[in-house]
Amino acid sequence: MTQITDHLAEIRERVARASQTAARPGGSVVIVAVSKQQSTQAIATAFEAGQRHFGESYAQEAVPKLDELKHLDITWHFIGQMQTNKTRVIAERFQWVHTVDREKIALRLNEQRPHFAPPLNVLIQVNQTAEPQKAGVADSEVGRLAGVIRGLPRLALRGMMTIPPLRSTPSETRKLFERLAALHEKLAAEGIVMDTLSMGMSADFESAIAAGSTCVRIGTAIFGARAAPQRR
Ligand SMILES: *Cc1c(COP(=O)(O)O)cnc(C)c1O
Repeated sequence: MTQITDHLAEIRERVARASQTAARPGGSVVIVAVSKQQSTQAIATAFEAGQRHFGESYAQEAVPKLDELKHLDITWHFIGQMQTNKTRVIAERFQWVHTVDREKIALRLNEQRPHFAPPLNVLIQVNQTAEPQKAGVADSEVGRLAGVIRGLPRLALRGMMTIPPLRSTPSETRKLFERLAALHEKLAAEGIVMDTLSMGMSADFESAIAAGSTCVRIGTAIFGARAAPQRR
């Protein structure tokens, strides 16, 4: 568990250095500690070390962990594939969703977001290379989905998210990050202004920050290896 504290310090240092190299202001990159398949004890240790944003990928796995950690002031990000039968717990228990990929999901989240809570922060997942097994919309579809989300009062459209293909080379990954940043600029010029680009994981977050990421999702580099996924 002390390793988690050390890893976190190291990641913060690397994020700060990458931000500085890219001439980005300090604090412009949020670190989301991806805690899927990690214990609540590991999460509490990271919290102790000052970490506040955590990401989970499986609603069923997340709910008991969120319950157990209710006393901690954690901002929870849902970063897994969206299934229509899981939208309610996500709308009720999370503050951010990175993986909105279709109108139906947006409508359900809007309807199910409790009225006492602030609007749910949402990102549109972009499937930049049209991988068939991966969720997300094509670059050309983002504007339309953004328009739908912006009309929903219980959702706050904050930006876009991407996961590069597993086997991309560093230079291919970098090009995809730059392409998402360019799309972000283009949409802003069209009046769709967003403030968040969720891109970069343990292996490539420095490249993502150089390209303009504002939110890196880091799992193994903080917590170590994960157990095999129990469910999808
Ligand atoms: C698991 C996961 C991560 C974290 O990946 P690491 O390589 O462990 O940093 C980031 N983003 C998403 C969407 C994930 O599912």
